[in-house]
Amino acid sequence: LVNTSYERINEVDDKVKAFLTLDEENARSRAKELDDADDKSASLFGMPSGVKDNIVTKALRTTCGSQFLKNFEDPLYNATVVGKLNAADTVTIGKLNMDEFAMGSSNENSSYTPTRNPWNTDYVPGGSSGGSAAAVAAGEVLFSLGSDTGGSIRQPAAFCGVVGLKPTYGRVSRFGLVAFASSLDQIGPITRNVEDNARVLEVIAGHDSMDSTSANVDVPNYTEALTNDVKGLKIAVPKEYLAEGVDPAVKESVMNALEVYKSLGAEWEEVSLPHSKYAVATYYLLASSEASANLARFDGVRYGVRSEKAENMIDMFKMSRSEGFGEEVKRRIMLGTFALSSGYYDAYYKKAQKVRTLIKNDFDKIFEDYDVVIGPTTPTPAFKVGEKVDDPLTMYANDILTIPVNLAGVPGISVPCGFSSDGLPIGLQIIGKHFDESTVYRAAYAYE
Ligand code: GLN
Repeated sequence: LVNTSYERINEVDDKVKAFLTLDEENARSRAKELDDADDKSASLFGMPSGVKDNIVTKALRTTCGSQFLKNFEDPLYNATVVGKLNAADTVTIGKLNMDEFAMGSSNENSSYTPTRNPWNTDYVPGGSSGGSAAAVAAGEVLFSLGSDTGGSIRQPAAFCGVVGLKPTYGRVSRFGLVAFASSLDQIGPITRNVEDNARVLEVIAGHDSMDSTSANVDVPNYTEALTNDVKGLKIAVPKEYLAEGVDPAVKESVMNALEVYKSLGAEWEEVSLPHSKYAVATYYLLASSEASANLARFDGVRYGVRSEKAENMIDMFKMSRSEGFGEEVKRRIMLGTFALSSGYYDAYYKKAQKVRTLIKNDFDKIFEDYDVVIGPTTPTPAFKVGEKVDDPLTMYANDILTIPVNLAGVPGISVPCGFSSDGLPIGLQIIGKHFDESTVYRAAYAYE
């Protein structure tokens, strides 16, 4: 499997550009070790996988897609999720491309080179986990890990025709995930099908004393939820998710999927999530505020590059940050610093926190009567490389259907549900109650 993985990478990755760093020598010796092992019973035994480059891997370069960390060759520890994958006998093939510090929806903010959509390389793979989704779609690895702060697992999964889950906030340890917006970030699996996804989550989920936000909640056996039985499942379909701005092909695919559910004995009804319309504004205020604080640690002293030109300490901070960060990251730091500054805090940050509660309450209310919420993952299929890159607001608006899920902290999956007339994949989003990934998987598996 590991041989096949590198063969495939050699064949396609100069076009797809999913990988930033390969770990071929170690991966091959690890594969050899596993071949010789007596016990081959681990649930993910020998599976070649890729890890998004904002997840720390011991002694393997971790750049976050940023020039700032281009020389971070030798991290001292593994993220908890990476340790868990190793313990389940997987093989890490390499590190996957991403928008710089996970800020973006198209991979065009990678400071190295943008990943391309394997279905058609004129199109973006989505982001920020674009490398993670493209590598799975192109058959370079069997599964990958991504991170999702406002849609970064689900949106690229939708654009690349693969399965991506953002778990409940607190379900998976974030220890070793380079923080973007700590109250929203979650790590999750990207796979070719729902069963693989459930198997990977089973391995990476669970409480971790190294992450105070990881929840002490039992991890169920997710594969047991894959029963194909959705009789009586109650599905809510928010009218805001199929409103104006949603591409007709996307709408049609989602309606077809709902028909499939009906034929399987599930019931669906239209509902309203009235505060969804504020989600993009709320998210970009909160995520940028948290990012401005989290990214303060990149000061030219502790990690990454230090400007060569500075002559004193203050200039060293300033110049290292000016040279190390790309445009989008600087934009977010400025937005966030502004929203948190005295005199503006109440009007922006605090207000956004209040609206976040309203968005969460919308979901709580719906989940009193329904098992899952279903809609599209994204308003449109993948767009062309370069199409939105000069227009950050249009780019941000593309996240409208994924962001509310992060703000509410609930789990959501994207599964393929059709193709556009240009042959680009379309994603169906299934959203569940807090810590109820089992029902999300049950619904996804029955449809798939
Ligand atoms: N596209 C969103 C952003 O740019 C989401 C990113 C993410 O989930 N990491 O912030």
